Amino acid sequence: MRGKMSKEIRMAMRKDAVIMLLKTVERGFTREGLKETPDRVARMYEEIFAGYDMNPEEILGKVFVKDPHQELVLMKDIPFYSTCEHHLTPFFGKVHIAYIPKGKIVGISKLIRLVECYSRRLQIQERMTSQLADTIDDILAPLGVAVIVSAEHMCITLRGVRKPGVVTRTAALRGVFFDDIRARSEFYNLLGGKDDSHSSRL
Ligand SMILES: [Zn+2]
Repeated sequence: MRGKMSKEIRMAMRKDAVIMLLKTVERGFTREGLKETPDRVARMYEEIFAGYDMNPEEILGKVFVKDPHQELVLMKDIPFYSTCEHHLTPFFGKVHIAYIPKGKIVGISKLIRLVECYSRRLQIQERMTSQLADTIDDILAPLGVAVIVSAEHMCITLRGVRKPGVVTRTAALRGVFFDDIRARSEFYNLLGGKDDSHSSRL
């Protein structure tokens, strides 16, 4: 969690840190183009780490609807941008969420907000995938939930092995999607792909 640090202190510390970092990269830090950079980066961090101020229980808790619907609900291609906690570089892609409700249904916008809540943090893809599945599992208590994340990592594209276009897929399956091969097949059929994900129950 972000803790109780005031916004003023947080912004000031970030600016100082960016100044120090820039000094290690380029000596002429005083040049015009870099003048506003520490401030811009400090403000950008507010945005890309806004997920710490979002509460998953609030997001999914408010809109319970009792519904007899017991068929699979699939939300495909939710875009997300996150930050790799190992390199502080972006990773981004799509999230697919499916669940089979047991009386509790949420609006589609709530699932999008939930993805924002967990992606706008320091993350690793596997953990984000599990957190999404576990939160939906805990709060909606569905018959099953499946989350697939496909992402490109800038830390793989920009540095290290430098392989653009490599897509990492992670999956977290709970309830019937974990136990029942038919439910899982239905999900993968609807997604239009086969089950080639690295499955995790972290
Ligand atoms: Zn990384």
